[in-house]
Amino acid sequence: MLEPSVLIDAETVQARVRELGAAIERDYQDKDLTVVVVLAGSFIFAADLVRATALPLTLDFFGVRSYGDETSSTGVVQITHDLARSVEGKHVLLVEDIVDTGLTVKFLIDTLRTRAPASLKLASLLHKPARTRLPVPIDYLGFTIEDVFVVGYGLDCAQRYRNLPYLGVLTPSDGSSPLR
Ligand code: 5GP
Repeated sequence: MLEPSVLIDAETVQARVRELGAAIERDYQDKDLTVVVVLAGSFIFAADLVRATALPLTLDFFGVRSYGDETSSTGVVQITHDLARSVEGKHVLLVEDIVDTGLTVKFLIDTLRTRAPASLKLASLLHKPARTRLPVPIDYLGFTIEDVFVVGYGLDCAQRYRNLPYLGVLTPSDGSSPLR
């Protein structure tokens, strides 16, 4: 397996997630918050984010499969695991790992809207504006990054690297440019 080079170190990730958690805590003080986690890429981000948010909240999970090649989605998204509970009338915070083209998150937002939540906001650990095809406002954003393929802190390459505590970039050993 290639050794990823560090893009954002673990301490920086943790500090930013704590800031986002504090902002969420302020914004949802008097609200009944439902956090919807998109599996699998955002599971570590979401786990740290909810622990940085000292609020009573409910967790639910979407499993999704985005169709595309190894590194790019087409916007055709299949829900492989649906929410366990209704979000009607709830204040929903959707938690994503990365907004790349925006196609996946747009599909999820449209799906959630049909279920009549009281409010709907988006938290994403990462955003790659260079690749945007559908602009989606991100209410709580961790980091804006360049157009590189990122692994670690929940994000995978062929299911590997999710357990790295930092965000890394895979650099081919022949010295050519990072994946994509
Ligand atoms: P989008 O539909 O916004 O193009 O793609 C979103 C999904 O593609 C993310 O939830 C993630 O699963 C995957 N993805 C996009 N960029 C990256 C990346 O740099 N690294 C990894 N591991 N997955 C990515």
